[in-house]
Amino acid sequence: TKPSLRKPEWLKIKLPAGEDYDNVKEIKDMMRSKTLHTVCEEAKCPNIHECWANRTATFMILGDICTRACRFCAVKSGLPTELDLQEPERVAEAAEQMGLRHCVITSVARDDLADGGASIFAETIRAVRRRMPFCSVEVLIPDFMGNEDSLRIVMEAKPDILNHNMETVERMSDRVRSKAKYRRSLELLARSKKLAPAIPTKSSIMVGVGEEWDEILRTMDDLRAVDCDIMTIGQYLQPTKQHLDVKQYYTPEQFAMLKEEGMKRGFRHVESGPLVRSSYHAHEQVKAAHAH
Ligand code: SF4
Ligand code: SF4
Repeated sequence: TKPSLRKPEWLKIKLPAGEDYDNVKEIKDMMRSKTLHTVCEEAKCPNIHECWANRTATFMILGDICTRACRFCAVKSGLPTELDLQEPERVAEAAEQMGLRHCVITSVARDDLADGGASIFAETIRAVRRRMPFCSVEVLIPDFMGNEDSLRIVMEAKPDILNHNMETVERMSDRVRSKAKYRRSLELLARSKKLAPAIPTKSSIMVGVGEEWDEILRTMDDLRAVDCDIMTIGQYLQPTKQHLDVKQYYTPEQFAMLKEEGMKRGFRHVESGPLVRSSYHAHEQVKAAHAH
């Protein structure tokens, strides 16, 4: 076997113990009692203490089994469970119990459903709004196989941010994301802007899967060409040995350079750093996106 890249120091973070931790445990118990899933937990996100303390969380709706199997992703793939029509209300209850200021709603890809789960997304946005009128709501949606009606259903529920991830540069897309398509994702972002010009759009990529620096810059240009407002860039970390190898660890300085490149291109906000995830510091991104 080939030697694997060593994890650099800046990725070895210590989790704070004590009071903070107890709170996290309590919230986890509440999620289990409501049979809800959060990306914060499932992805073992390193930012969980900071985000939850900042009243930001990412819910994963529509079950925890995905109809796709992207090579970077730790979510189980297979035949999904049935549709849970009470889920939107339970998400809203959990958001209320956590006192969220920013609620991110995402899902597995449900290519088995006619609308890809769009109506449940819309219902979840509305349920959170009813209980938490001051909580901003961001949706991180799958590509709905390019179905424009599904996108419209989500946009009509008026999320505060419409997020759809490119995940990687064009050349690496097929290797990294199974059924998703780079151009189709750009198209989705372009259509969102046409359907609701006032709603900021956002997209993320992970770096370290084998892309070139110039290809990252080209992805930024492609996103700006469809008027994407917010971009986040983080380090890809291999969830298990069966997943895609890490090809490169970018330094904090390189992430800072990427942020600069993004800001030069006119994004309203760029979050770029080794531990940055799509929803990291999301509450600040809402502010930045509306400050114009
Ligand atoms: Fe959850 Fe996103 Fe924060 Fe990670 S970055 S803890 S997934 S809200
Ligand atoms: Fe993971 Fe999303 Fe790909 Fe499903 S579609 S495997 S949840 S990244």
